[in-house]
Amino acid sequence: MIKINKRIVPIALAVCLTVSSASAAAPAYSTTASAKSYVYVAASGNGACYHTSKNCSRMRGRVVKKTKKAAKRQGYRACKKCYR
Ligand SMILES: [Zn+2]
Repeated sequence: MIKINKRIVPIALAVCLTVSSASAAAPAYSTTASAKSYVYVAASGNGACYHTSKNCSRMRGRVVKKTKKAAKRQGYRACKKCYR
């Protein structure tokens, strides 16, 4: 019995680790999944706004796509042209 238990423990630990790492990663995924709307911000970091279109005339230079939630969290505001 003890021998069997010793064999199970590492597996149980491994399962525990995979589960905890999965649940640790889950919030980031679930937030992106629930906020499926993506926005575009300037890759330079100089842009203060996020845009619904990467072709927005207010957008300059390279564009980075991210979730609206992430953009808001990073201090971006809604572009007045895209969100009017
Ligand atoms: Zn815009």
